[in-house]
Amino acid sequence: MPDPVSLRLALATNNSHKVTELSRLLHIPLVSPASLGLRMDVEETGVTFEANASLKSRWLCEVAGIPAIADDSGIVVDALNGEPGIYSARYGGDGLDDRDRRLLLVKNMIGVPDALRTARFVCVIALSIPGEPDLFFRGEAEGMILSEERGEGGFGYDPIFLDPESGRSFAELTAAEKDARSHRGRAIRLLKQWLTAEGPGTLKEL
Ligand code: IMP
Repeated sequence: MPDPVSLRLALATNNSHKVTELSRLLHIPLVSPASLGLRMDVEETGVTFEANASLKSRWLCEVAGIPAIADDSGIVVDALNGEPGIYSARYGGDGLDDRDRRLLLVKNMIGVPDALRTARFVCVIALSIPGEPDLFFRGEAEGMILSEERGEGGFGYDPIFLDPESGRSFAELTAAEKDARSHRGRAIRLLKQWLTAEGPGTLKEL
C-alpha cells in the first residue's frame, strides 16, 4: 500500500475558487496553502509561463514537504510580439480592471488586418515533487483577437478572443465548451494523464 501522506497534492494559490475548481476537474481534493496555515507571497519574477508556475509550485512543495502544482496563464498576441504574455494580468499597469485591459488590447490592435490578428491563450501547470526536477504541462488554444467585445460569459480576455472552430468568442461558449477547447482544459487533461499513468497509488484511480 502506498503511504497516504505521499498521495497528497497541494495547489499553490491564494484563490480558494481555484482550489475548488481544480479539485473538481482533477477529481482529487487539493490541499490549499490556507489549509496548511500558509499565505502565498511569491513574486512572479520569471520571464516564461513555466518559470512563474514553477516559482509558486516549488515554494509550496519546499515549505509543505508534499508535491505541489501551480499554474500560470495569459494571452500571447503575435502582432504585438507576444504581448501581453506573462504580463496579461498586469497589462497596462495598476488601476485597470479586466475590461480596461481587454479594451487596451483592442486599441493596440487597431489597424492590424484580420490575417495578422492571430493569438493564443497559454496555460502552464508546474508540478514540483520533493527531490525531483519540476514537470510541466502546457496547454494552448489558438484564436484571433476581435475588434470589439462579444458575449457575456467567461472572464479576462474571453470576450475579445475568437475561437475559429466555433466562430464564437470564448465569452460566447458554455463552460463545458470552453473547458473542451481552452488552454487550461488542455493543460489539466495533460496533468490528469500524467497522474493516471505515473501517479502513485490512489492517484491511479483518477
Ligand atoms: P495568472 O493568474 O497570473 O495566470 O494571470 C492570467 C491572466 O491571463 C488573467 O488575468 C487573465 O486576464 C488572462 N487569462 C488567463 N486565462 C484566461 C482565460 O481563460 N480567459 C480570459 N483571460 C485569461
